Amino acid sequence: MTEENLQDCDIIFYCKDCEEVVETNRVGRKYVYTCKKCGTKNVAFGTKKSISSFFRLDEPKPGEKKVVVPK
Ligand SMILES: [Zn+2]
Repeated sequence: MTEENLQDCDIIFYCKDCEEVVETNRVGRKYVYTCKKCGTKNVAFGTKKSISSFFRLDEPKPGEKKVVVPK
């Protein structure tokens, strides 16, 4: 079994306009999805792993301070 890798195989949707992972509405029977938040079709989808690495979701954006919680 490879259940531990399941998360990386999950399909997620990333809105390029909102610049975040969003929920989507599917348009008709086509493989077209619109962002539930802003309504555009500027949505990319893929596995969590590929989206995260492609859009560098793990890295803090320029100008965005990384919050460090002191122990
Ligand atoms: Zn959006």
